[in-house]
Amino acid sequence: MNHFPIFLNVEGRRIVLSGGGEAALAKLRLLLKTTAHLTVFSTDAVPQIRDWAAEGKLTLIERPMGPGDAVCAALFYGADEDAEKDARTAAIARRDGALVNIVDNLNDSAFITPAIVDRDPVTIAIGTEGAAPVLARAIKADLEARLPATLGTLARIGKGFRKMAEALPFGRARRDFWRDYYFSKGPAALTQGQESLNGALDTLLSEHLQRKARPGHVQFVGAGPGDPDLLTMKARRALDEADVVIYDRLISKPILELARREAVMIDAGKEGFGPSMSQAGINALIVHHARSGAQVVRLKSGDATVFGRLDEEIDAVDAERINWSIVPGITSASAAVAAIGQSLTKRERNSSVRFLTGHDMKGFADHDWRSLARPGEVAAIYMGKKSARFIQGRLIMHGADRQTAVTVIENASRPEQHVLETTLDALPAALDAARMTGPALMFYGLAPRAAVHAANHLPQRELA
Ligand code: SAH
Repeated sequence: MNHFPIFLNVEGRRIVLSGGGEAALAKLRLLLKTTAHLTVFSTDAVPQIRDWAAEGKLTLIERPMGPGDAVCAALFYGADEDAEKDARTAAIARRDGALVNIVDNLNDSAFITPAIVDRDPVTIAIGTEGAAPVLARAIKADLEARLPATLGTLARIGKGFRKMAEALPFGRARRDFWRDYYFSKGPAALTQGQESLNGALDTLLSEHLQRKARPGHVQFVGAGPGDPDLLTMKARRALDEADVVIYDRLISKPILELARREAVMIDAGKEGFGPSMSQAGINALIVHHARSGAQVVRLKSGDATVFGRLDEEIDAVDAERINWSIVPGITSASAAVAAIGQSLTKRERNSSVRFLTGHDMKGFADHDWRSLARPGEVAAIYMGKKSARFIQGRLIMHGADRQTAVTVIENASRPEQHVLETTLDALPAALDAARMTGPALMFYGLAPRAAVHAANHLPQRELA
């Protein structure tokens, strides 16, 4: 991020602009929404700018800008649409101490003006660091259509009520009140007219003052394989409302970004926990926060119920009589099988699929290798990278065909997704050569659809 977004207080301050054509007009339209004092330097301003000057909305000075003209200005816009003129005026403004923007000249500008969605006092600024103005405009159009025009009114009236709302305890109680106001009672009252809004706020406040504090609660949330678009709506809402988020090592950054800014974020996957300490430590952490009344989200990769040591955490929470619930997520086997265009089960191929772990707490995990070694079996193997050689050995020992397809999907659903297509025979060597560092899911008995088609001489489709 080269450009850091801020909201600058320009009330009563000077903003100076040089130029009087279309570019100047566009910027002035925006600047006139502010409470700043606008000064425009131009010898040939278009009629609209002259009209604004006549109406007292801005000061028009009909001569070229000179040294000292931008003294005490917060901002300066070079909008002469002429490189030489802009360079001259910008140099003057810089010397006078103003922050400088030259229209359509990113390199020589100290700041850029974002695309703005205006629901005053709610203002949304959209920037692409000059990379994609078209994108900024599209996002703006999207937000304009989505945000009700009444949002500004709700915020303005809400602002006047802030002192009253301080009767509610700081934190969750107050947040719940405002959430109710903005997203439920406020919009409803506003349909009856602005006057009914104050009455609605009074009623809502006394209702919330009578509420008992919500007890702590734990949600065990499946965060899916990493792509934030694969979160359930329920998971998103849980993140949005959490006071505390305790997350695992595999949770991707874009998902963590979705948590409320004020939420306490705890990385439970940090190295430094001993293997047996860590689970007890995590249990204690969950219990501690829930007992203090927090809404805790325990965020686990994929689905929380698959190889997630969920039961140990539930037992710990149960022992303290704390309420809890589970929000299902997309397990990595689902994302991985989608990545290779296959089904987990298929008529006449496999009517069951096994989810295995490559190693458990005691080391390499043992399974019913004999039945898995039969032709046509399919297994999704979690945490299998390190134990690939062990798994291969056991399967071959129990009679598995060495040419059985094995597909390893690293970072399923993430931008760095990588598919490794191999056989049981070549698996350890192929894994060594691939040097995977991300989480990987292994399918025993499944090849990518494109590979199967090629082998059957069917028209091949490129894999994404
Ligand atoms: N509860 C999780 C699994 C936790 S065990 C789930 O339902 O997916 C951790 C293992 O999950 C990793 O070792 C890896 O085998 C698998 N895994 C998690 N995220 C993955 C991803 N994005 N791509 C491939 N495998 C993944």
